[in-house]
Amino acid sequence: MAAEEGLRDRPPAAPPGLATRAVWAGEAGPHWQNAAQVPIVESATFAYPDLESWLAVAQGRRPGHIYSRNTNPTVAAFEEKVRALEAAAAATSFASGMAAIAGVLFTLLSPGDRVVSIHDTYGGTNKLFVEFLPRFGIEAALVPTADHAALEAEIARGCRLVYLESPTNPALAVLDLARLAAAGRRQGAWVVVDNTFATPINQQPLALGAHLVIHSATKFLGGHADALGGAVCGEAELVARIFHWREITGACLDPLAAFLLLRGIKTLALRVERQNQTALALARELAAHPRVARVLYPGLASHPGHEIARRQMRGFGGVLSFVLRGGWAAVERFLPRLRYARLAANLGAVETTAGPPATTSHVESTPAERAASGIPEALVRYSAGIEDPADLLADLRQALD
Ligand SMILES: *Cc1c(COP(=O)(O)O)cnc(C)c1O
Repeated sequence: MAAEEGLRDRPPAAPPGLATRAVWAGEAGPHWQNAAQVPIVESATFAYPDLESWLAVAQGRRPGHIYSRNTNPTVAAFEEKVRALEAAAAATSFASGMAAIAGVLFTLLSPGDRVVSIHDTYGGTNKLFVEFLPRFGIEAALVPTADHAALEAEIARGCRLVYLESPTNPALAVLDLARLAAAGRRQGAWVVVDNTFATPINQQPLALGAHLVIHSATKFLGGHADALGGAVCGEAELVARIFHWREITGACLDPLAAFLLLRGIKTLALRVERQNQTALALARELAAHPRVARVLYPGLASHPGHEIARRQMRGFGGVLSFVLRGGWAAVERFLPRLRYARLAANLGAVETTAGPPATTSHVESTPAERAASGIPEALVRYSAGIEDPADLLADLRQALD
């Protein structure tokens, strides 16, 4: 494990904790000129003094890099950090979360295959299911989210892949990952989980039975809303196939983005712990506010997935959603009044972001598709940053009042 590699000469007595992995994994040198930080290797290609050493690397007999669409040292460090955090055998990376999701689906599925998933996956993922996969003769059976009996029944009809997301975006529904992974494995299906919302700090789907975990590193992993990236973690043989699809189709992570994400991940544990606490405190306050019709947050005892979340998550995450009384007009009045929230499509950053699904998670969907996914127009998705919780609470109160 790379967290141990960072301390190579002094092996730790016990497996390192997640905060330690976030700092040390993937950082092992030696780096150029003994740099203490992973250098940004912006080089399209790697040059060799003779054919013998070039061939040795090209044929995998010696470590090294040939061309940055295939592998790159900065990108490899990022992959190693994410791999260690998910306690996976292997990891690979992509230019964005959507590239990672598309890469997994197009690597593992063939014409005639069936995918079972849920109504409210991330909007872009839903587009792959309803717009692109059918063109290749792949059927996506989308089940009402969190209806576990319906999901199990659909999985039992036979499928190649079970695609899950928990908590979901933006409704924060919770799926029982162990239960659904077991159902998928009984059918011999691949079980894939988008863990973007939870982060490996709060939830590790591989330990719950998933074959693959996907991240939009753009969100919590990077944490600073300054770089796009994606990652896929899981069994080595499976990840190798997905890496191969990526190296051929070319949706590779840029080394500068990899560097920004690497630096961001070092503080992942600190940020997520703070965001967990803040989101829970805000959810409790909002639930009691007369202008708020409903709060969706797995940390509230009233949430239908609360017991499952308590079993499979260490924290409930930094994102909450709430439905305002007064419909879309109320959302239009409320959002611009927030002082400490960027009205932006991003989430998981150090600064708070807020927005309705129409401009965030479901910007690619039509109003009818949003309605079909059960997403109310007056819903606000709020991603708590790392600001002082008291300031965020006061800000929400003044905007509501
Ligand atoms: C943002 C997001 C994605 C897509 O990631 P990009 O990096 O924007 O391509 C996928 N899944 C979830 C849950 C997301 O929030």
